[in-house]
Amino acid sequence: MLEARNKGEGTFTDTFTDKNIDRRGFLKRAALGAAGVGAAAALGACSSQSGSGTTNNSPAASTGATNSAEQQWGFEIPPAPIAESTITATEEADVVVVGAGMSGLVSAASCLENGLKVIVVSASKAAVSRGGSNHGVDTKITQAMGLPKYDPEPFYRYQYVANGGNFKPAFWYKFYNNSAEAMNWLVDIAAKVGIKCTIESGPEYTVDDPMYTPGAAHAFYKEDSELEGGVGTGEPHIAAELARFIVEDLGGTIVWQTKAEQLEKEGGKVVSVIAVDMTSGKYRRYKASKAVILATGDFSHDKDMMTRYCPEALPLLLEIDNDVNYDAGLQVGGLMPGDGHKMALWAGAAWQSAPNVIMLGRPNLPADQPYTSHTGLMVDANGQRFMNEDVLGGIACATIMNLPDITAWCIWGKNRAADGGPWAKPNYAQGVYFSSAEEFIKTWDDDAYGFGVKKNDSLEGLIADLGLPPSTIDTVERFNQLCAKGHDDDFYKKPEKMIGINEPPYYGCSFTPMFLTSLGGIRANTNLQALNTEDKPIEGLYVVGSVLGNFYSSVYTFAMEGINYGATCVTLPYVLGKELAGK
Ligand SMILES: Cc1cc2nc3c(=O)[nH]c(=O)nc-3n(C[C@H](O)[C@H](O)[C@H](O)COP(=O)(O)OP(=O)(O)OC[C@H]3O[C@@H](n4cnc5c(N)ncnc54)[C@H](O)[C@@H]3O)c2cc1C
Repeated sequence: MLEARNKGEGTFTDTFTDKNIDRRGFLKRAALGAAGVGAAAALGACSSQSGSGTTNNSPAASTGATNSAEQQWGFEIPPAPIAESTITATEEADVVVVGAGMSGLVSAASCLENGLKVIVVSASKAAVSRGGSNHGVDTKITQAMGLPKYDPEPFYRYQYVANGGNFKPAFWYKFYNNSAEAMNWLVDIAAKVGIKCTIESGPEYTVDDPMYTPGAAHAFYKEDSELEGGVGTGEPHIAAELARFIVEDLGGTIVWQTKAEQLEKEGGKVVSVIAVDMTSGKYRRYKASKAVILATGDFSHDKDMMTRYCPEALPLLLEIDNDVNYDAGLQVGGLMPGDGHKMALWAGAAWQSAPNVIMLGRPNLPADQPYTSHTGLMVDANGQRFMNEDVLGGIACATIMNLPDITAWCIWGKNRAADGGPWAKPNYAQGVYFSSAEEFIKTWDDDAYGFGVKKNDSLEGLIADLGLPPSTIDTVERFNQLCAKGHDDDFYKKPEKMIGINEPPYYGCSFTPMFLTSLGGIRANTNLQALNTEDKPIEGLYVVGSVLGNFYSSVYTFAMEGINYGATCVTLPYVLGKELAGK
């Protein structure tokens, strides 16, 4: 089972979805997905993603369009307006925020602090979050821990290359220049109620290395016991506190279990949101004099949208049904149905110009540093080495996506613990290392991170245990020869990473990337205002968090650990609150 195999390490520990997925099922569906793109366009018009068993406002349901003539996807076709007679009440505010994940909560708190009246409508029952890494630059936490402020020159230059330049750099500099203020604000909100913050462990690539990862991932925690193995999983602490803070301290309103279905425009301006109370089925109109902020998260629960924008992820998705879980937390294989994206499209917004990025995990591969690949020997299903293994985990995942069965196998010997290192502990704070080779080896013996580690005193036996072809032994022998020589003639890995597989017992496991989330979607300017296809701002409509388009392209590298929370959910929405208030 994929989940059983991938369960464990990194920020994505323990509480995976209870929907068990058979990997063969994934791959079968992938084949269907790839073959069915054309068919899916037509099917899209017939499929419904309205979710939660409330009113079905899927485009096809309301328009009956067959879609084939326009070659449009079902999700692109606006539904018929919700009948006025069904709207039972109207509420008014300066700003209506749709969604109570971190991006919506930060937007709301910032608007309120700057004097605006805010209503949050959220389909979830409570604040939604997952993981817990929040990238922040030169904050009171990094300063207290003695971590240097990173220089965007050359660090961002590497990231330009990693993203192929195919993104909107102005977002990054706006983030960089406002990150300290925004993160310090969040850290102070947390501290008032005893929520503490530290910086996560990460790889120790040097500044001159394209894999360089600054120590900048802020992780919230309550109990000191969470510092041992739980760092980077504390987002629920701060998300729940923000929801309380908004209502009790700032006088804002959060309407839970209320699903936004349509936006309304007057003279080109978005002026209100029509939402349904998911318990009573009654509709309400939420009028916004200044702004509607769409903070509805990703679109990975919508099969058509994924087929259209992230087809490479289809093999890793859960079996998608109409049963959307708007409270989805630490779940892999698909999250939200892209309601905000659809509403924005129907209101005339354009999709982002660059391809969408998917976040793959877990970033930590076995028997290595946090957030890196397994930097020893990795082979594919044919027992062949396929890459310079010394890269960030996110990049290794992207490469593994192109392998047969989307799977890599890592093989190492007992000597790896003593011959490499020091080995940082995953999910601990910066600078915490395994105290001895034996302590590191114990994590393999105990399969502490759930990779399904196999152990055997013979290499041939291990290769058989892993289900790899017997010829894999030739690859291991070649790798060992290169290690002994001190030069990687095949993939030019750094000599210090060429640790031979010398001492039994030998260890190995397979690794298939997990799908975490889709990123981006709606085109926006640097003030986060949605843009139409002519790049003109749509008055009154803003996008934050995973709805915000063009922040990334190519691959979520994890070089900026926690950048989605840090930038699109915390810093940029924090600034948006001030900008909407004219400050
Ligand atoms: C296992 C896992 C771990 C992760 N860890 C990290 C991490 O450590 N750091 C990081 O940066 N990223 C992490 N991510 C990515 C993370 O999901 C996003 O960064 C983050 O959730 C984006 O926040 P958001 O506010 O945009 O959306 P979400 O957190 O998904 O919140 C969306 C909100 O909108 C509501 N909503 C949706 N549709 C409607 C509607 N129609 N009407 C009203 N409300 C609606 C939802 O109910 C929810 O309240 C992780 C992802 C996974 C799967």
